[in-house]
Amino acid sequence: MTTSPQPARLTVLAGPTAVGKGTVSAEIRARYPEVWLSVSTTTRPPRPSEVEGVHYHFVDDATFDRMIAEGAFLEWALVHGRNRYGTPRQPVLDHLAAGQPALLEIDLQGARQVRETMSGARFVFLAPPSWEELVRRLVGRGTEGPDERERRLATARVELAAESEFDHVIVNDEVSLATDELVRLMGLATR
Ligand code: 5GP
Repeated sequence: MTTSPQPARLTVLAGPTAVGKGTVSAEIRARYPEVWLSVSTTTRPPRPSEVEGVHYHFVDDATFDRMIAEGAFLEWALVHGRNRYGTPRQPVLDHLAAGQPALLEIDLQGARQVRETMSGARFVFLAPPSWEELVRRLVGRGTEGPDERERRLATARVELAAESEFDHVIVNDEVSLATDELVRLMGLATR
């Protein structure tokens, strides 16, 4: 008997600020090169450690507006009431069509949009072990000033309340264990 290969699936990883989505994604990137990670477009200025085309495509407002008008985004959102972030549509469709599992690391608003348009996508919520730990991680990474931290924590409260909308919840106590859990949900062989 022959079995047809499973079509590649889209996985959406969401969760509040500083929960470790970026770290888990980076570990997936390092350990599972067969998984394609979408590179979002953003109007946020780059942080010193960020590289154009690797972490984000950094664009100005006019370019983001044009991309919206052209229908270039699978989803996009104003995040933390400040900057816009969007997932370029075509690369996602191309990689899935080529049979490559794809991973999006986006916010709750974006995850809700993808739910409307991409049937068969898998929705995973990365949760902190506790609220106190989330605050500690946000302060600890030191990439935001006090005002921006407050804005991000306000968004985080809203995002945490939406956990039950997701198919799976992973508590990010330890990055390697959370990554293993995500790998298992994505149906990849653990290594
Ligand atoms: P940061 O500024 O810390 O890189 O990201 C802020 C938030 O934007 C994070 O919650 C991240 O998941 C979200 N984000 C990053 N890229 C996208 C995207 O393409 N679409 C949406 N909706 N959110 C995104």
